[in-house]
Amino acid sequence: MHKHDASPRRVSLPTDWRPDSWRARKALQLPVYPDADALAGVQHELQALPPLVTSWEILALKQQLAEAQEGQRFVLQGGDCAESFSDCSSELISNRLKVLLQMSLVLVHGMRLPVVRVGRFAGQYAKPRSADTETRDGCTLPSYRGDMVNGPEFTPEARIPDPRRMVKAHARSAMTMNFVRSLIDGGFADLHHPEYWDLGWVTHSPLADEYHRMVAGIGDAVRFMETLSGSEVHNLNRVDFYTAHEALLLPYEEALTRQVPRQWGWFNLSTHFPWIGMRTAAPEGAHAEYFRGIRNPVAVKIGPSAKPDEVLRLVDMLNPDDEPGRMTLVHRMGAAHVSGALPPLLDAIRREGRRVLWICDPMHGNTESTSNGYKTRRFDNIRSEIEQAFELHAAAGTRLGGVHLELTGEDVTECTGGARELTDTDLERAYRSTVDPRLNYEQALEIAMSIVRKQAQ
Ligand code: PEP
Ligand code: MN
Repeated sequence: MHKHDASPRRVSLPTDWRPDSWRARKALQLPVYPDADALAGVQHELQALPPLVTSWEILALKQQLAEAQEGQRFVLQGGDCAESFSDCSSELISNRLKVLLQMSLVLVHGMRLPVVRVGRFAGQYAKPRSADTETRDGCTLPSYRGDMVNGPEFTPEARIPDPRRMVKAHARSAMTMNFVRSLIDGGFADLHHPEYWDLGWVTHSPLADEYHRMVAGIGDAVRFMETLSGSEVHNLNRVDFYTAHEALLLPYEEALTRQVPRQWGWFNLSTHFPWIGMRTAAPEGAHAEYFRGIRNPVAVKIGPSAKPDEVLRLVDMLNPDDEPGRMTLVHRMGAAHVSGALPPLLDAIRREGRRVLWICDPMHGNTESTSNGYKTRRFDNIRSEIEQAFELHAAAGTRLGGVHLELTGEDVTECTGGARELTDTDLERAYRSTVDPRLNYEQALEIAMSIVRKQAQ
């Protein structure tokens, strides 16, 4: 995450926008806080706290996303469905970073393209829910909406939205960010030391063997080049890492929306790369209104029921000047629907000549429930959606520029399938997610390898 003197061409600024102009629109998926004064007090407090990222970093990422739009980079975006306050620990953060670094090495090596690494962390604390309430044993309570809003425990107290949680989320995000930055700046991502990224708990994994063979080959190449040139190959000791979260809880995002000296316009300084979730992506809604006025690169999740004209309206609204790097569309259709639902959208965007980065989220269209009551995803469906997406883009004359995954560096059993052929009954062993099922380390690495194999075809 280093300083970058990007000076992108100036685009038109909306004159009828303010960080709070979303308040005049219909806001879906926001909690109703019982105490409006307490909420205003928290917003005030947040406005006075330092931001979590800088405009330099945001503009540097926008430049990299612009290059990804041109086919010169591939984006790897991944992390938990939802972070939780209790998971803000050194081991969990570094394990997640290790998985992302291993996956990105596999992708760089196999695709021969630089990878833009975007963590779904340091702010992924607010969740949209399909129902406002949850009923257990005849008792109905408000749904859990992420640690930034309320608690997951099924008690009336825990489920009351508490604005103080936003301050805690800001602090936890800052701690996560600080630790990631320190690791990276200190040399954790150094290509001379890929052993730093080995996960302590992995004892024997067939995939890890394949991965280590690849790493050994890269090490040989690095040493060969260093011998030839008589010095260290430059820049192998660091990488850029960016952050992203669903900017769902607008009172929080508004409080972190700032103007910056020597820059024009407004930046959301809570994250580099915020996205709008599928459920809140209506062009006339509060979230699209908020996103319209910030200068960050932005993403929108698009599901199987999205209509081409609605997607075009969103693109018009969020990127009227077709600014490079500004607009990403993340399609999440499901393996069974992607071949029908995606091509009309690809055709519409290509026909209108709009500049977007296409990313595939193969997780959210493939969620199902097992007979023993677990929310899960099948590895084969996840892999199939990515593979189909590559083919559909190639057929449409567009380009798949990245993937968006829910994953963890822990040894969980939340998704079935993969090299170890996890079954529905394995889910009982280590199911830890309070929200969506994540790929575990081996499954995540296997996805990276399958992307590379697909590309080589
Ligand atoms: C998510 O990313 O966790 C999510 C809820 O996704 P979507 O908005 O695509 O359903
Ligand atoms: Mn999710």
